Order: sequence, then structure tokens, then C-alpha cells
Amino acid sequence: FSKSQGRDQAQCYSSSLNIESFKKFTLSNDLRKALDKNEFFLQYMPRVDTNTTEILGAEALIRWNHPDWGLVSPTDFIPIAEETGLIVPIGEWVLREACKQNKQWQDMGLPPITVSVNFSVQQLLKQNILQSIDQIVEESGISPDRLEIEITESSFISNEKEVIQLLVELKKRKIKVSLDDFGTGYSSLYLLKRLALDTIKIDKSFVEEILTDPVNKSIIECILNLAKALHINVVTEGVETAEQYAFLKEKKCNEIQGYYFSRPIDPEEFMHLLKNKLMINQSSKTKQEKLI
Ligand code: C2E
Ligand code: MG
Ligand code: MG
Ligand code: MG
Repeated sequence: FSKSQGRDQAQCYSSSLNIESFKKFTLSNDLRKALDKNEFFLQYMPRVDTNTTEILGAEALIRWNHPDWGLVSPTDFIPIAEETGLIVPIGEWVLREACKQNKQWQDMGLPPITVSVNFSVQQLLKQNILQSIDQIVEESGISPDRLEIEITESSFISNEKEVIQLLVELKKRKIKVSLDDFGTGYSSLYLLKRLALDTIKIDKSFVEEILTDPVNKSIIECILNLAKALHINVVTEGVETAEQYAFLKEKKCNEIQGYYFSRPIDPEEFMHLLKNKLMINQSSKTKQEKLI
């Protein structure tokens, strides 16, 4: 009896594994066609001046509208895109789309903003990456200082030299660079000093428990002091409550990104926000994402 129960359990476990790998298999197959089938779109999440609540910029976030599964979260498909190398063409699409969109807003006479785009390490290490960035920026007609590239600490693991060199080249072009999810990877002081970053984005995990866990408070204060000494701008991500906002404002964090002000929203909705420039209330009108 115990044997067969054991077998049942094993079977149950392996079949759920199969579902997982089946899903992954179909997703990676579908991912290959998604670009041609126009299934990707971008949403924009405002970056807000902590003091004035003005919109200073936006982060472009990719969305995949899968014909069978509905909206698939980037945390589910970006890792697959990275494994399969599809992140390179997908990332180029994101960059082109974000630059074009920003130029459109600018041409409409809206307040000028910087749009930031996430880059995976595979993109950074791509042959001729600078040429493709140059080409996309030029075609869009946007001025390079209106573009920011977000990279993560993990990009430097085993590629330190290449990535540092690339950042030097981006700086020459006046393209901005931010270090995303700061504090979750190998946050090295040496890198912070060497990189000449424009911005550090403090990961939302530190903000979640800001009021209950005093250690997180101290970590955020430390990062803010450090960034100030290094003349680096700080954005805190994941700000959801008035209390978190008040704390960060008091601690002189320059910029905030989080549901408290706005969720990621479609371009049309963002355009309306930008017209007013000021973020007054948190807009939670946006449709809930249906994740698989
Ligand atoms: P990220 O670059 O750190 O982007 C911020 C993520 O945190 C977004 O999730 C955003 O919706 C979420 N977020 C921001 N504020 C709050 C908040 O107050 N509360 C909560 N609960 N969440 C908040 P999203 O859009 O699901 O993106 C997840 C990750 O997927 C991104 O993290 C980024 O690493 C990756 N990603 C998204 N778009 C792209 C892309 O075009 N290229 C690449 N390579 N990665 C991307
Ligand atoms: Mg990001
Ligand atoms: Mg982040
Ligand atoms: Mg991330």
C-alpha cells in the first residue's frame, strides 16, 4: 500500500513537472512567433519627483498578450527569452518602440521626459550592440539624453570589463544608465564608484517592509547617503502607501516609482497623465493583469 501511495505521489509530482515544462515549451515556441504576430505591447510607469510630484520620466515595461493564455508576465517570459536568445530581437523591439513613443509625446508638445528601457545582459553583450542602439536612437529622432538604459548588478558577473566599457560608450553619447533592483545582487561599492551611473533604483523588496522592519529602513538610508556622496540620483521602486512615501520624502529620496502614484499604464493613459504633469492621486483604475 505504502509503495503504491509512494508511486502515486511520485506520479503526481512528475505530471505537474510535465505541465510546467510543457508550458515552458509552448511558451518558448510561441515566443518565437510573438514578434511577427504583434503580440507584444508596452506599458509605461511614471517616475515621480518626490517633492513636487511631477512626472520626470517613465519606465517602459513589456507585456505579452498570448492568444491562449492571455497576459503573460514578463517575469515568466523574459527568462525564457534570455535562455533562447530571443531577448535580443525582443529587446530591440522594446527600445525602438519606447524611443518612437517618447518622440511622439515630445512632438505633441508634452513636457519632455526620459524613458527608461530594461536591458538583459545578453543584449549588452551582443555584437555591435552600440551600432544598433545608435541606429534606433537616430531613426527615432529622440535626443539621446531622453533615453535611459536599465541594467542589473548581475550583468557584471563574469562580464565586468565588457559591460563597463559599454557604459563608457553610452555615457559619451549622453544616454543615461541606471542600476536596477539595487541591493538584490552583488552590490559592490567598487562598481558604484567606477561606473559613473546616473541613477540607482532601490529594489522594491526593501520598501515592502519599510515600516515593520527597521533594518530595511537603515539599508535605504545608507543607500541614500552613499548615492548622495557619489552624486548619483536615487529612485525607490515599489512605493505603495502614503507612509512609505512620507518616509522616503523625509529621507530626501529624489524620485519614486510605485503603485502609490500609478501602476504601469497604456500609452494613451500615460499621455493624459503627462498633460497634467502632476501626479496627484494614485490611479488604480488600470485593469488588473491576468497572469498565468
Ligand atoms: P523591473 O525592471 O524592476 O520593473 C519594475 C517592476 O516592479 C514592474 O513589474 C513593476 O510593475 C513593478 N512595480 C513597480 N512598483 C510597484 C509597486 O509599488 N508594487 C508592486 N507590487 N510592483 C511594483 P513588471 O512589469 O511585472 O516587470 C517585471 C520585470 O520584468 C522587470 O522588473 C524587468 O526586470 C523585467 N522586464 C520588464 N520589461 C522588460 C523588457 O522590456 N526587457 C527586459 N529585459 N526585462 C523586462
Ligand atoms: Mg527596470
Ligand atoms: Mg527594479
Ligand atoms: Mg528586474
